[in-house]
Amino acid sequence: MTVRAFIGLGGNQGDVPARFRSALEAIAMLPKTRIAAVSGLYSSPAWGGMLQDDYTNAVIEVDTALAPEALLDALLAIEQAHGRDRSAGPRWGPRPLDCDILLYADTVIDGGRLQVPHPRMAERAFVLLPLAEIAPDLCIPGLGALKPLLERISEQPIRRIAEGLPHVHQPC
Ligand code: AMP
Repeated sequence: MTVRAFIGLGGNQGDVPARFRSALEAIAMLPKTRIAAVSGLYSSPAWGGMLQDDYTNAVIEVDTALAPEALLDALLAIEQAHGRDRSAGPRWGPRPLDCDILLYADTVIDGGRLQVPHPRMAERAFVLLPLAEIAPDLCIPGLGALKPLLERISEQPIRRIAEGLPHVHQPC
């Protein structure tokens, strides 16, 4: 069975748009997975009080038949292939690529390795704005409709810097 999932992409080291393009190619190559939509790119200051470059973020929608944990493992492997080293640097430090599962159908998961909906998504303009761009009528399990959530983050500094990434070739 295929479900609709949303994945948040982020990064603040090197050529992040190029890395997003490459990550999208890798996601498009995952088994039983199709990219359905890609948001524009957004730029915002880093969270967590650490002095570091601004982040670039986007959200993508996928149709996938991968189980949530299999999708997480695939995304962690893609992060690693794009230079992410979790053993180096602080928890909220700079990173070439971050891939988070924001939503997986209407499923709520509170396991050891995986929490879905992503626990911090409702606080973050860099998640909610690109998400609203591709799924404006979305209802988030446990959090409700997107629109009131957007009002709560309307003061956060963020700008839209580019249209969505070019179409990614999908294998048949
Ligand atoms: P970070 O990249 O710093 O956000 O941390 C990634 C780690 O958070 C992964 O290894 C997962 O075990 C855990 N995690 C928990 N929930 C999620 C989620 N919804 N998406 C991605 N990683 C998650």
